[in-house]
Amino acid sequence: MEPQRSPLLEVKRNVELKRPLVKASSRLPLSGSRLKRRPDQMEDALEPEKKRTRGLGAPTKIATSYPRAPPLTTVPQTTAQKVSKKTGPRCSTAIATVVKNQKPVPAVAVQKPSTSAVPPVVGGKKPSKRPAWDLKGQLHDLNAELKCCRERIQTLDQENQQLRDQLRDAQQEAKTLGLERGTLEGELARVQAQAEQGQQELKNLRACVLNLEARLGTQESLVQELQNKQLELQEERRQLTSRLEDQERRLQVSEAALSNSRAEVASLQQEAATQAALLAERGERIYALEMERRRLHNQLQELKGNIRVFCRVRPVLPGEPTPPSGFLLFPSGPGGPSDPPTRLTLSQTDQRRGTLSGAPAPTNRHDFSFDRVFPPGSGQDEVFEEISMLVQSALDGYPVCIFAYGQTGSGKTFTMEGGPGGDPQLEGLIPRALRHLFSVAQDLSGQGWTYSFVASYVEIYNETVRDLLATGTRKGQGGECEIRRAGPGSEELTVTNARYVPVSCEKEVEALLRLAHQNRAVARTAQNERSSRSHSVFQLQISGEHSSRGLQCGAPLSLVDLAGSERLDPGLVLGPGERERLRETQAINSSLSALGLVIMALSNKESHVPYRNSKLTYLLQNSLGGNAKMLMFVNISPLKENVSETLNSLRFASKVNQCVIGTAQACRK
Ligand code: ADP
Ligand code: MG
Repeated sequence: MEPQRSPLLEVKRNVELKRPLVKASSRLPLSGSRLKRRPDQMEDALEPEKKRTRGLGAPTKIATSYPRAPPLTTVPQTTAQKVSKKTGPRCSTAIATVVKNQKPVPAVAVQKPSTSAVPPVVGGKKPSKRPAWDLKGQLHDLNAELKCCRERIQTLDQENQQLRDQLRDAQQEAKTLGLERGTLEGELARVQAQAEQGQQELKNLRACVLNLEARLGTQESLVQELQNKQLELQEERRQLTSRLEDQERRLQVSEAALSNSRAEVASLQQEAATQAALLAERGERIYALEMERRRLHNQLQELKGNIRVFCRVRPVLPGEPTPPSGFLLFPSGPGGPSDPPTRLTLSQTDQRRGTLSGAPAPTNRHDFSFDRVFPPGSGQDEVFEEISMLVQSALDGYPVCIFAYGQTGSGKTFTMEGGPGGDPQLEGLIPRALRHLFSVAQDLSGQGWTYSFVASYVEIYNETVRDLLATGTRKGQGGECEIRRAGPGSEELTVTNARYVPVSCEKEVEALLRLAHQNRAVARTAQNERSSRSHSVFQLQISGEHSSRGLQCGAPLSLVDLAGSERLDPGLVLGPGERERLRETQAINSSLSALGLVIMALSNKESHVPYRNSKLTYLLQNSLGGNAKMLMFVNISPLKENVSETLNSLRFASKVNQCVIGTAQACRK
């Protein structure tokens, strides 16, 4: 873009181009061209000049008013030429121009010559025209006009000179200004560059500012959020501080209590160590005492006899005929009535002999003595108390076998399992024995003994073994069971297909007894009163271990409800039912005889003991051997009508009672 030219530059350029000043004079206030202008217009024309002089020090004084020139319309050529000769070519040119144009020049107030006779131009009015004849006057006018022109020329010269000076000054000034302009342009360019750079920077800064403003906005919202969070945290901190203080207070209290407790613990630990030493010493003593107890217990049992026989007489049941007085008597022992009875006297009147002789029938007395006799009024607890010591021997590792022998209806099942209705008072030996074992085992656990019990319950009918604990499809039918050795070379016997159920509490034992009762009931509907025609064998395998001393003991406890011992009169056998009954009875008698023979063989210390003669003795062989303890209950009826069977039972029991099995050895491993 071309910079705007200043008038000064224009002048300068003209000077440089060496243009004739005449041309430039068209811009100067020449009289010819300015005569028509009013003073205010002249002022305007001079305005650029004034502008040029601003800032250049004191303004150059330029004449602003000129003497009004006289009208040149009548100036002859010669005069003009004369004038041009005196004023120089430049002035003559101006005049020539005026003449040539023949235009009237407005009057200018020119300094009047003192000699002028021409009436002055007043108010722009032209002097009145002289008559043609007044040559002198005309000449005078012309002279005056000439003089005026000369003066004017002189003035113009002066003015020209002034303008030249002014021009020179202006040129000088233009030069200076040119230099200054160059400097300023350089500076301007630099400033512009700077400005552009500034603009760019500004743009960048604006973008930066926008970016920062956006970030600021984000940061402000973040700050606001953080402030809110800070407030929350402060609140939380305040709460935590109060809690902490509270906790610290409690901690101090606790620490105080803890230090007290520590002191207490230290003293207790010392005491505990003392107690532990004492306990260990006592443990040793208890163990020694326990062993001594077992030894003495066993000695006592041996003194009582490894085969003992208790006689139990059941009471007369409602509806049964009262036996004659003195039929059964229970004489007191040597210690008087306070001694438990051990003797029983059965008085039997021999009606036949009395009738024949006509004298009163004689009375036959049968005296029996057993290890203990329980009259009809004896309760289940009383009976159990007497055998509890024997049961204890099973825990000590001695095999124990308890039989109930007697005719049907004499109270064998009542003695072994208990009475009807689940009355705890009527509980039999089996539940009482197991409860006792569990309780003693619990006590012995404090001495380091651990016991486990596994129960089985089978019946032997007509020399076949049947599981009474069978469940599900086997229930009531009971597949054939066989008695086998537990393993090759093993002394232990096991019944195949029979359930062996681990038990640890009374409830489990009760459940097993209920199940056995159900199984027997099912069998009873199939075959009449089979239960009384079969032997029921409840066996509990007891295993004890004292791990710290490496001791183990194990023994079976067998509780046997034998089949009814009554005999059938062969003469009464008529129909097939009776024949079957006879077969059953023979099987029962045979097995009971086998039991008697085994006991005899053991008592006589015979080399061969005929265990295999019956399933019963075969199954019980481990409970009957040399180190076993055996107890036989002989249950008898109090009724006179059963006297024959009662006598048979008492005689059998007496034989057994006379047997002594060799000193028992505990089964220790
Ligand atoms: P067994 O099993 O020898 O055939 P039970 O035990 O079934 O005989 O007894 C026959 C009946 O006599 C049952 O009703 C039984 O409750 C009752 N009984 C047996 N002994 C007693 C006793 N000591 N006290 C009360 N009732 C008894
Ligand atoms: Mg019975």
